[in-house]
Amino acid sequence: MKKYLRVIIEILLGLLLVGAGAFGYMNFAGKKHISHELTEVVESLDEAKEELAKTSEELHEAEAKVKELSAKARELEAVKAAFSNGVLLGDVEGIYKGLKTGLSAERQLSLGAIRLLTNGAKDPETVSAFNKALEMADWSSRLNAVCAAQNALVAAGEKITVLADCAPAKGEDKHAKGGHGGAPHWDYEGEMGPENWGKEFPTCAAGKKQSPLNIVGPFEKSKDNLEVSYKPGPLRMLNNGHTIQVNIPPGSSTKINGEVYDLLQFHFHRPSEEKIDGKPMAMVAHFVHKSKAGKLAVIGVLLKEGKDNEAINVLWDNAPGKEGPEVKLDKITFDPGKLIPSALAHYAYEGSLTTPPCSEGVNFYILKTPVDISKAQVAKFPFKMNARPVQPLNGRKIGAN
Ligand SMILES: [Zn+2]
Repeated sequence: MKKYLRVIIEILLGLLLVGAGAFGYMNFAGKKHISHELTEVVESLDEAKEELAKTSEELHEAEAKVKELSAKARELEAVKAAFSNGVLLGDVEGIYKGLKTGLSAERQLSLGAIRLLTNGAKDPETVSAFNKALEMADWSSRLNAVCAAQNALVAAGEKITVLADCAPAKGEDKHAKGGHGGAPHWDYEGEMGPENWGKEFPTCAAGKKQSPLNIVGPFEKSKDNLEVSYKPGPLRMLNNGHTIQVNIPPGSSTKINGEVYDLLQFHFHRPSEEKIDGKPMAMVAHFVHKSKAGKLAVIGVLLKEGKDNEAINVLWDNAPGKEGPEVKLDKITFDPGKLIPSALAHYAYEGSLTTPPCSEGVNFYILKTPVDISKAQVAKFPFKMNARPVQPLNGRKIGAN
């Protein structure tokens, strides 16, 4: 058992993180019935365990032939045993207790998830500890952890649905297709274009509060008050294959009606996803925020063709041209506040992520005052078209102030 502990933990964490990731997405979508969902997650993890058991049997058959596979089968046996008797939880707690650095948010989350699997979702303390851990884990690093775990599981031959954000780079994918398949992809045109997102990501088609919108009156009065407080920090950015995204170190936030929403990241769309009276602007920057309670809010800054934008120059000069992991540019200090106009009058509406999985429960604030970007700068953005078409209003009211 000890011998395989590390591998077991890795496999487990993979599974748990998949569960946590799924839960995270649900949480991300702002749904309310948390413990019910938690039960669902645990159920899906149970299914995953069954899958593992099946794989384990298959592997037993292959044992005689392939040495490597037999080792894997034993690991899976051990995983099954560890789930049922709680030994694993004790071991993981022991390992984590020994860490001098303290527990990262991700480890807390993993530990919370292992407790969840061992104790079940009916123990309220376990559930609340897991929820707390989930809140503490920052979305982008949580996603990284989930992706790493998912890709590892796929590589190990597990049949799991890989989150779209975790799909391998397009180039790699061509090689991988014959072997693994199964990873859902999405794009802005063609077979995987927005009209087909719903096949892999049901909310994109079935959701009733989807973004973006064509912003057109009559408006109701928005009573929401925004206080933006962004700080300069080291530049961290990535090309995720769908946009250029700048990840924000802790310290920048927006107060919405007095409640603090931390700025997590901002990214760009070309042309702007939102239309004003039926017309898009050259681009839009979406500033994605999350409150301590997990609520999401996006501030949209429309970029209008005009003068050269100094802040955009800094970003474009450093933006990776090809899809890849986050690049840390510690020598470059960037102030996200430079992209925010001084007037914060806005249009407000309830919406969704504008990319799969299109989760709802996201409040949008599209600032009325656009910011300039030059034609040459628009042309330099590495994505020619990365805007989802506008979505039906479905009775929603757009606020304005
Ligand atoms: Zn966006």
